Amino acid sequence: MQKTKIILDENEIPKKWYNILPDMPTPLSPPLNPATKEPIGPKDLSPLFPMELIKQEVSQERFIAIPDEVRDIYSLWRPSPLYRAHRLEAALKTPARIYYKYEGVSPAGSHKPNTAVAQAYYNMKEGIERLATETGAGQWGSALALATTLFGLKCTVYMVKISYQQKPYRKSLMHLWGADVIPSPSDKTNAGKKILSKDPGSPGSLGIAISEAIEDAATHDDTHYSLGSVLNHVMLHQTVIGQETKEQLAQVEEYPDCIIGSVGGGSNFAGLSFPFLMDKLAGTKDVEVVAVEPTACPSLTGGEFRYDFGDTVGLTPLLKMYTMGHEYVPPAIHAGGLRYHGDSPIVSQLYADKVIDAVAYSQTEVFKAGVTFARSEGIVPAPESAHAIKCAIDKALECKKSGEKKTILFNLSGHGHFDMSAYDTYFSGNMLDEPI
Ligand SMILES: *Cc1c(COP(=O)(O)O)cnc(C)c1O
Repeated sequence: MQKTKIILDENEIPKKWYNILPDMPTPLSPPLNPATKEPIGPKDLSPLFPMELIKQEVSQERFIAIPDEVRDIYSLWRPSPLYRAHRLEAALKTPARIYYKYEGVSPAGSHKPNTAVAQAYYNMKEGIERLATETGAGQWGSALALATTLFGLKCTVYMVKISYQQKPYRKSLMHLWGADVIPSPSDKTNAGKKILSKDPGSPGSLGIAISEAIEDAATHDDTHYSLGSVLNHVMLHQTVIGQETKEQLAQVEEYPDCIIGSVGGGSNFAGLSFPFLMDKLAGTKDVEVVAVEPTACPSLTGGEFRYDFGDTVGLTPLLKMYTMGHEYVPPAIHAGGLRYHGDSPIVSQLYADKVIDAVAYSQTEVFKAGVTFARSEGIVPAPESAHAIKCAIDKALECKKSGEKKTILFNLSGHGHFDMSAYDTYFSGNMLDEPI
């Protein structure tokens, strides 16, 4: 029998995170203070983040030890399985070998707890009592609600209002894990009030919710802010994904020719690909790495590489990244996790340096790929993850034409159990490619 599921033992959970910063061909441009245009220092960030995370944000150490308490919690679902997609390969009649790393086995159903747990831990160690954050579709909010409850912290989640109304079950999950969930824009913050005074019916956006969460953290001493993607320390924490995958592929004597991940802010893509990019940047391996984004919010393929705010109102430092502009409100596509206007500065710089590629797809073709996957492999993918599936299928079909037997690896970043209404919309035939 051919191997389908490649699993590792608990003691093979990585002991270190891989930091790509010292290996980058072009050093990262520093975050700037928007008022002075000078690089910001640790002091500027300390009202929002614990010192350990601020250090990680700028660290030049290639490997950073994972605390035992964090590994203990990782062991609730890690190491996550790597699958060989035999059935998808057969359905496509491709000579390519397709592998996927499945991060939907975490309690929150995505890769996001990999960083949520680390962030909650360092905040708890520093004596912080509450974390404030934003969430779009609810994936990040539920991951942080899970992590904070495991470390005995309180959690306030500003949830984009339209998702709060349309995705009640993610909200319920956050409540179940003890978090306070506030529809954003709200009247709890000046940022929220400012938006509401201009547009009382505002459906909200991730950028607005970030503004609210940052203001909450900055104005309460016992509270810090937590971000689920984009920042360097988030990319760092996610590298457990790629390190495990390398071990798993080595067990079956494979190394990928092509690595694919969906990109919202870049963290699941970074987590899978960076440990392999380490080899590429060292010149020991050649691998094609592809970031997949929605045509509705194509930061890499349609944005500009420049300094921009991370939020809508303009409270964050300026980050050099591919951006649609901080005031861009993307169409309400079903892959809520991919609707962020910017991208990780690291992922952006790697794209500018042509170390990685990017491609954008529209949502109906993405859902079609998601259904093909569910009907062959069984697992229902999150709409975000289905972007990576679409790209993997396209690559496999190219191999069918050319006869190449490539090894294709993609990140199945989460399951779609909370996205059934999106699948219903797809099957109803009413899904639009340039929606509202
Ligand atoms: C949040 C999310 C994404 C997008 O965020 P990244 O930081 O780019 O990974 C992708 N897939 C799932 C399942 C998510 O929850």
